[in-house]
Amino acid sequence: MDSNATERGAAWLSKAGLRPTRQRLGLATLLVGDGENRHVTAESLFAAAKDIGQAVSLATVYNTLRAFCDAGLLREITVDGSRSYFDTNMHDHPHFYWEEDGELTDAPSDELEIARLPRAPGGASIAKVDVVIRLRRNA
Ligand SMILES: [Zn+2]
Repeated sequence: MDSNATERGAAWLSKAGLRPTRQRLGLATLLVGDGENRHVTAESLFAAAKDIGQAVSLATVYNTLRAFCDAGLLREITVDGSRSYFDTNMHDHPHFYWEEDGELTDAPSDELEIARLPRAPGGASIAKVDVVIRLRRNA
């Protein structure tokens, strides 16, 4: 991994005040090292870490992703109520979910218009709205 990528990973961690442990830095570099936004699952990030010979367990990847979320570095998008995707793009934006591939990609925000939301029940307020558009390839 080149030093620019590692530097980007370190800067990303320090932005959130997270101590750059070896494992955090390794995963941060995989997530933001190339300066591009990405969507990962714990499993896909674990596979990417393994590919480059990073010694890390799936449980650690999962816990680290959670810690990055809590620190405000990632947002979690849940599909099907159980599949969690982690997004490095913190701006509000809709997603396409490719049903066949189980892949999540960004959808153009400027083409989304939400005219009205149902009122939150008494004693509650809307915390956030996730828009996931499920796609199926045409046969
Ligand atoms: Zn996204």
